[in-house]
Amino acid sequence: MRHRIIVLGAGYTGAIAAGRLARRLRREDVAITLVNAEPDFVERVRMHQLAAGQDLKPRPLSEMFAGTGVELRLARVTGVDVDRRTVTVAGTGTEAGAGTEELAYDTLVYALGSGWNAQGVPGTAEHAYEIASRPGALRLRERLARLDTGQTVVVVGGGLTGLEAATEIAEARPDLDVALVARGGLGDWLSPKGREHLRKVFGKLGITVHEHAVVTGVGADRVTTAEGEVIPAAVTVWTTGFAVHPIAEATALEVTGTGQIVVDGTMRSVSHPDVYAVGDAAMVTGPGDKPLRMSCASGTPTAWQAADAIAARLTGGKLPDVPIRYFNQCISLGRKEGLIQYVTADDRAVRAALTGRLAAVYKELVCKGAAWSVANPTLGLPARRRRVTREEAAARSAVKAPA
Ligand SMILES: Cc1cc2nc3c(=O)[nH]c(=O)nc-3n(C[C@H](O)[C@H](O)[C@H](O)COP(=O)(O)OP(=O)(O)OC[C@H]3O[C@@H](n4cnc5c(N)ncnc54)[C@H](O)[C@@H]3O)c2cc1C
Repeated sequence: MRHRIIVLGAGYTGAIAAGRLARRLRREDVAITLVNAEPDFVERVRMHQLAAGQDLKPRPLSEMFAGTGVELRLARVTGVDVDRRTVTVAGTGTEAGAGTEELAYDTLVYALGSGWNAQGVPGTAEHAYEIASRPGALRLRERLARLDTGQTVVVVGGGLTGLEAATEIAEARPDLDVALVARGGLGDWLSPKGREHLRKVFGKLGITVHEHAVVTGVGADRVTTAEGEVIPAAVTVWTTGFAVHPIAEATALEVTGTGQIVVDGTMRSVSHPDVYAVGDAAMVTGPGDKPLRMSCASGTPTAWQAADAIAARLTGGKLPDVPIRYFNQCISLGRKEGLIQYVTADDRAVRAALTGRLAAVYKELVCKGAAWSVANPTLGLPARRRRVTREEAAARSAVKAPA
């Protein structure tokens, strides 16, 4: 019987892990199933562009995985039972059929990513728009299209996503009054050069910045802050970080308080060795013993690491030991401007930063490269398909035979 590998989620990390496993292992030995709720690969790093009215290239997963040996399953994951080693999925629409089904695995790769994080602030669920998902970005796009000249859009959150959203919307709709509310100072983690450039671009685009302000409520036409400020908002865009889906938390897996699966350096669950977690769903300790932040930049190497570790363990090969580190933060500021902030291995800004149009082009290449790496998960390395050793397979099935 072939070793059954199920990968949950075909975002950046799940798609890369599935593709890389398929190139590392032989089809006679493993059955790889990739489960995803949507039929397309979604470039999440471009959701602010989608919201601002740009059209993104369609990337059907069926085309991306044609001929790879990865079986694509369009369905919504509703539960995982790590003791019985099963996943429950519900059909999505006509393509996937109706009803629920249980899928059994020998090895699971959990890559369900994250969604927006309303952080329990009153009114967010009812009134705020999010851009962490494609449906959310499309909803905002449709709302922005209906706004009249002079109406106010307030972006809450001064992190990378907030900066990108505010500038993208302001550039696409110069007739709107765009504001950003940040808990700290504008880009206060950046180098002096980075901060200065950010202020210049925000000024040029006419974005009002409310600094050192904590939003405590969202209404239909305003946001209120802990400092007592009432900011008019025809539309509020909420970008204060991401939250993982509650599925892992409902299992026996060891998770953090945020619901991320705790993994070792090979992305293997510390509590359940049959389970690997990658991307936003995983709590990975990076350089300086700091958790990796939820990002494509650090998520992609976690997918390489997990796939290579699974392949190594199945084939008796050498375990990967590649430290995951940061190099830069690539921030788009609309289509014409950008900021590449160089950072230390543990993500702290150094003096050097690239700005202006060159930075915008660089960022565009990074986004293209991220999508390219999904379709090319071995990154140019020769695809050495290795045989799962008989001993390894036998040992694994002996360990995992259901009681
Ligand atoms: C607007 C925006 C801009 C960003 N810009 C950057 C950037 O410049 N650089 C950077 O490094 N990071 C950026 N990020 C963060 C980056 O997009 C995420 O960290 C990255 O997508 C995480 O990858 P992932 O594979 O873990 O999850 P995802 O890409 O979210 O993929 C998860 C997949 O799981 C599927 N899924 C979820 N739940 C279920 C379910 N129950 N059943 C079946 N399928 C399910 C989803 O449909 C999706 O395909 C940005 C994010 C946003 C929203």
